[in-house]
Amino acid sequence: MKVLLLGKGGQVGWELQRSLAPLGELVALGTGSTGFHADFSRPDELAETVRAVRPDVIVNAAAHTAVDRAESEPELARKLNATSPGVLAEAAVQVGALMVHFSTDYVFDGSGTAPWREDNATGPLSVYGKTKLEGEQLVARHCGRHLIFRTSWVYAARGGNFAKTMLRLAKERERLTVIDDQVGAPTGAELLADVTAHAIRDTLRDASKAGLYHVVAGGETTWNGYARFVLAQALAAGVELKASPEAVDRVPTSAFPTPATRPHNSRLDTTKIQDTFGIRLPNWQAGVARMLQETL
Ligand code: NDP
Repeated sequence: MKVLLLGKGGQVGWELQRSLAPLGELVALGTGSTGFHADFSRPDELAETVRAVRPDVIVNAAAHTAVDRAESEPELARKLNATSPGVLAEAAVQVGALMVHFSTDYVFDGSGTAPWREDNATGPLSVYGKTKLEGEQLVARHCGRHLIFRTSWVYAARGGNFAKTMLRLAKERERLTVIDDQVGAPTGAELLADVTAHAIRDTLRDASKAGLYHVVAGGETTWNGYARFVLAQALAAGVELKASPEAVDRVPTSAFPTPATRPHNSRLDTTKIQDTFGIRLPNWQAGVARMLQETL
């Protein structure tokens, strides 16, 4: 079996390189790759890459993820998040491949307090959310044999992340200010990659499992709660901090105006993926604690 991975250098793409490798031959491409076209700002060339590789599975982890910047460059965001995934899905049909794609809780308007289900009405608030919604719709329309995973609040051990920023700030300052009115579940790129590989294997055996799924770690918190957890873990590990967890002040989102509007309710209901694939999604604290152990 052959797997074509796009966006290999991103948080999720990096972990997918590990989790997809046991499935078969892996052709992993990123923006710096030579030999094949993999630039999502030139959508038409991507079909050529699919025809040349002839994969059994296409996994797209590339995206325009700079949520605030997307507000001022909507055309580029649309090419990366919608047009290119659509081209890949059309090409997937031509070569008979399963198309795997990632989307986001930003397709919802963030109202209410109930976890969003896959069949709830969408209502994106930002260019990022709108283009990601268009992308998942194009993938679903062009390629019936698809897996689309909506996730949220993704972090990875590699590179910068929210937890590392909080640790740095807590070493420099005696008080931190972190918003407390957006609710979600920090979700590790590792977990996403492992669930993706498992779901691909299952869906190749049983095509009825293709479809749209929500996948996030269990439980919920706010960015403020997330920050407090990170500082508490660091203190328990003996790290010296100027700011304790109690010194993380709670403020509303309006205290930090940003170009893109974020949803307040980023809770995603994961019943469908857990039941369909027979998996259990661990609570967010387990993954964050593990990432911190690697970081501290
Ligand atoms: P990253 O920002 O870490 O990675 C984005 C990837 O897209 C990188 O590999 C990057 O390549 C690639 N990319 C950017 N521009 C281009 C381009 N012009 N052509 C080809 N590739 C390009 O994203 P994540 O790993 O966090 O996100 C993975 C998926 O999960 C995305 O679909 C995202 O929308 C979704 N998601 C992410 C969330 C999050 O909190 N991060 C939350 C919800 C959903 P390079 O590294 O070479 O620049």
